[in-house]
Amino acid sequence: MGDLPIVRIGVDLGGTKIFTVALKGTEVVAEAKSKTPVQGGPLAVVDAMAATVRALGVGSEAEAVGVGAPGVIDFRSGVVHSAPNLTGWVEPFRLGPALSEALGGTSVTVDNDVNVGTVAEHQMGAAVGSRDVLGVFVGTGVGGGLILNNRLRRGASGYAGEIGHVVVRPGGRRCGCGGRGHLEAYAGRAGMERRARQHEARGRDTLLVELSRTRRMTSSVFARALEARDPIAVALVDRAVETLGLALSMATTLMDIPMVVLGGGLADRLGPSFVARVEEAALALVPNGRADTLRVVPAALSDRGGAIGAALSARVRRPRSSAADGRARVTT
Ligand SMILES: [Zn+2]
Repeated sequence: MGDLPIVRIGVDLGGTKIFTVALKGTEVVAEAKSKTPVQGGPLAVVDAMAATVRALGVGSEAEAVGVGAPGVIDFRSGVVHSAPNLTGWVEPFRLGPALSEALGGTSVTVDNDVNVGTVAEHQMGAAVGSRDVLGVFVGTGVGGGLILNNRLRRGASGYAGEIGHVVVRPGGRRCGCGGRGHLEAYAGRAGMERRARQHEARGRDTLLVELSRTRRMTSSVFARALEARDPIAVALVDRAVETLGLALSMATTLMDIPMVVLGGGLADRLGPSFVARVEEAALALVPNGRADTLRVVPAALSDRGGAIGAALSARVRRPRSSAADGRARVTT
C-alpha cells in the first residue's frame, strides 16, 4: 500500500437517474450521470451503469466500485432481491457480479442506498466526528441507516435502521409494504401523495393535486403548496413532522443516539426549517436527561451523498498478503 490515495467509484442507482462519482481518498475528482433505463430490465440498467462509470474517465485507476441501490439487498452476494422503484426488477438479480463483469472484473460492492447515504454523512457530511448516528432519508419512502461506535450496523436480517417501517399509529394508514400505521405512510412522499389524492376525490381541492395533474407530486410540488399555505399540504407536512418526531424520539432514546442526520429529496427540498421542526417534535418527547444531547441536523451532501457513500463503502480487494487490510475495511 503506497502513499497514493486509492481511487474508488460510487454509483447511486435511483429510479430516475444513475449518478456516479470518483473519489480519490475523500476528494470527489469526477462526476457523471445518466437516465435510468425504463425498458430492458436489470440488464439494460447494468449497461447504463457501466457506461456512466466509464464516463468518469478514471479508467483503470479505480480499485473498487460501490453501488447504492434501492430495495432489498443481500450485501454479501450483491443480489438485489426486489426493487419496486425500478421498472422490470421483480426477480432477484445478481447486480454486483453482473456489473463487475461489465467493468472487466473490477470489485463491486452493493449496498442499500440509505446505508451508504448514512456512511457518507458520517465520514464526509453532517455527522463527521459522531460515533453514533442515525441517518434518516425522507423521499418517496422513508429509509434509514444506523452507525454505532463508528460501524454501520445491519442487524440479524439487514433491517437495522429501517425506521420507515416502525409503527407510529397502531392500526393506522396502510404502508407501501402492506403493514399499517408505519412512519413511511405518514412521512414518505408516496404516502402523502395518496392521502392528498384521497382528499381531492372527496371534494377537498388542494394545490398539491392542482400542481401535479400532468406530472408526479414531487418534493417541489410539496414545497410550493406549503409556501402557498395550502391547508391539505400544511396538514400533511404537520403530520409528517409529528410522526418523524415520535419515531426519532423512540429510536434515539432506546439506543441513546445523540445525532440524527435528516436527508432525502423531500427533507432537502423543505429545508432546514423542516428539519428544525422535526428536531423540536422529537425533543418534546424524549426524557429530560436527553433533551440537551440529541440533535437532528440536515444532511450536508444532498443528492450526491448516495454516490459518495457507495464509493466509501466499496471494498478494495487486495492480494492475499494484505488480506487483513481488506477485512478491516469491511467493518467500516
Ligand atoms: Zn411499512
